Amino acid sequence: MFLKNYPLANLTSLGVGGPADFFVQPSSLEEVVRAQRFALEKGYPLTVIGYGTNLLIKDGGIRGVVVQIAAPFAKAKVDGTALIATTGCLLSSLSKLALHHGLSGLEFAVGIPGGLGGAAFMNAGAYGGEIGPLVRSVQLVQDGVVKNWPRSELSFAYRHSRFQQETSTPIVTEVELELVPQKREAILQKMNDLQHQRRSKQPLEYPSAGSTFKRPPDHYVGPLIEKAGLKGLRIGGAEVSTKHAGFIVKTGEATARDFLELIATIQSVIWEKFGVRLEPEIRILGED
Ligand SMILES: Cc1cc2nc3c(=O)[nH]c(=O)nc-3n(C[C@H](O)[C@H](O)[C@H](O)COP(=O)(O)OP(=O)(O)OC[C@H]3O[C@@H](n4cnc5c(N)ncnc54)[C@H](O)[C@@H]3O)c2cc1C
Repeated sequence: MFLKNYPLANLTSLGVGGPADFFVQPSSLEEVVRAQRFALEKGYPLTVIGYGTNLLIKDGGIRGVVVQIAAPFAKAKVDGTALIATTGCLLSSLSKLALHHGLSGLEFAVGIPGGLGGAAFMNAGAYGGEIGPLVRSVQLVQDGVVKNWPRSELSFAYRHSRFQQETSTPIVTEVELELVPQKREAILQKMNDLQHQRRSKQPLEYPSAGSTFKRPPDHYVGPLIEKAGLKGLRIGGAEVSTKHAGFIVKTGEATARDFLELIATIQSVIWEKFGVRLEPEIRILGED
């Protein structure tokens, strides 16, 4: 069941980082529970990843057990206005499933490349939409036990959820979303508009992990970095995108260290020039 010393770089959109001591990709709830119990019994740390589109895994890799919730754990159904999906489902597929059933709410997610588990953990959002407000309840596995939490217990805020605060790693396994009936043409139109905006503004031709930093109060990250003259700044194979300075892209051979150094450089320049603290939105995992 577990693969040892498993390379993780290719499981992330950035394509950098070292291996996992133990790696498993469950295809059922029972396997998720078993993976978590294995880590608990052995006293190993447990890390969950989805499609790796918001991750920077450090070059030394991740100690303990890494559980990837992805395609083998993807099932979705629609029941009235509810969309119930396991967390290995891609957001883009769920967005299209909602369209198919004439349900509105997930249009914002059509161009977000990750999965539902990562989206719930991050409270992913774009263009005024967010996953949090759509969530009715989630199923998760924590301490080897299956639990259900309603939205009122999930503390969703801007790129934040309760899952980020838990000391005992939760593995989100299923999410029930509440959507709103709408004409398919209107849903499709909105999805197409948002896709167009995304393609014209984001550096989708290069590997990235999405927006590098969270939006600080009263500022936009891209213009701030551009104003500081950092657009195009490069360390190794990591580069501040020349198309959208809020993204760091991989332009050639790169290590996680290149990205970490570029992030630290941007943070210190923006602090010195504007007194603004930039907090990474991307999740940095593992060790040097
Ligand atoms: C080009 C590009 C554009 C993007 N645009 C957007 C955007 O517009 N809006 C936005 O919000 N994000 C955006 N992202 C970031 C990313 O796609 C989303 O945050 C996505 O929801 C992450 O899902 P993932 O499956 O890739 O999660 P991962 O990157 O694998 O993981 C992200 C975090 O979630 C945790 N996690 C993942 N799955 C689970 C689970 N099942 N249970 C518990 N924890 C879990 C991980 O531990 C990690 O901390 C973009 C990324 C790229 C590369």
